Amino acid sequence: MSVSILNKKIQFPENMKAAHELILKAKKGEKGNKTGASYALPAFNVTTYQGIEAAMEAFEILGSSGVIAFSNSACKHFGKGDALEGLEYIHEHVKFRASKSSVPIATHLDHGDNIGEQGRKVIRKAIETLTSVMADNSTDHANKCATSLKVNIEATKEVVDLAHPKGVSVEGELGVLAGVEDEDTHSEISTYTDPEELREFLTTTGVLMLAPTIGTMHGPNKGKPGDKVKLNIELANTCLKLANEINPEIIFVAHGASTLYQQVVDYAIANLESLGDLSSEAATWKNFVGTDWNQIEGLIKNGFCKINTDTENRQTYLAALLGAVKSTGSKIDIRYYEKITYKALVDSYVQKLIMAGNYGVWHEPKINVNEFKLDLNL
Ligand SMILES: [Zn+2]
Repeated sequence: MSVSILNKKIQFPENMKAAHELILKAKKGEKGNKTGASYALPAFNVTTYQGIEAAMEAFEILGSSGVIAFSNSACKHFGKGDALEGLEYIHEHVKFRASKSSVPIATHLDHGDNIGEQGRKVIRKAIETLTSVMADNSTDHANKCATSLKVNIEATKEVVDLAHPKGVSVEGELGVLAGVEDEDTHSEISTYTDPEELREFLTTTGVLMLAPTIGTMHGPNKGKPGDKVKLNIELANTCLKLANEINPEIIFVAHGASTLYQQVVDYAIANLESLGDLSSEAATWKNFVGTDWNQIEGLIKNGFCKINTDTENRQTYLAALLGAVKSTGSKIDIRYYEKITYKALVDSYVQKLIMAGNYGVWHEPKINVNEFKLDLNL
């Protein structure tokens, strides 16, 4: 059975590229006309127009390659309940914004699937409106159970056959990732990726981006307080080596790669505690557990070039809003709160892009990356 080759000649709207093209550049360590160490593209899950704008500004500040990701529930939010309509809004909005951009970007459907009727509709629409899709067929989301390898391969290959001729890159998933991503994507179980299954999955489907399961988790609670998330680096390396032998253009993706910004957590807790009897809310913040950055950094060094991050950016937004309400809770001006949360989001994205080494790719950064500090008190 032959696999569909990604058509790299397709022209997307101005400054829009398939995610795979931008991430492959990161894997090869290409920045400007130089080649150095690999870096990663944090894929930012956005749910609002403000989020899109903040991500775009962060990419432009740093001269980064950008991936903006939309989950099914984000698409529904943009479409006021209708994910298909949401994708049309996203398409038109991002196309216009990208035409004004100083850097190229990719748009990506996060955790699409090709299993249920609605999933099949959404992923087909995403192939028409975005530049990259994830076909997460390792889980039957509607029935909340893992699928067989055979079902995963068939469903993923079908998406690759639809998307690759149109130049749209496809990310597959092998293994089941535990944790809560959003109301549409969650699992209580986690199964590691099996290397032999991986070989069959990659050679049969032809996907060029793969999310293996190596111990990362979705959501803000990646363990009990005090726990450390332990990634299976040995398995990650085995899988990477195998994939590179099959096709060196295959990209590995780390899901659930959010770390916590401790200064943001502290800022939120301080504001909650001073707002009156919100101690249970503050306690919830205290219980958030992320993945240590040094483990994610290790994955990037080993060749994971797309890292999905969402939680810490949402936390930064909310922490900034809490601070704004605490300092001026009677200012009747939406723009005041929007400016504060917007700046916080931009800074959160800038911080993550710097950590991932994704700056100076298309032009020199407009700030000194060594001096940048994410600080909500400023
Ligand atoms: Zn995910």
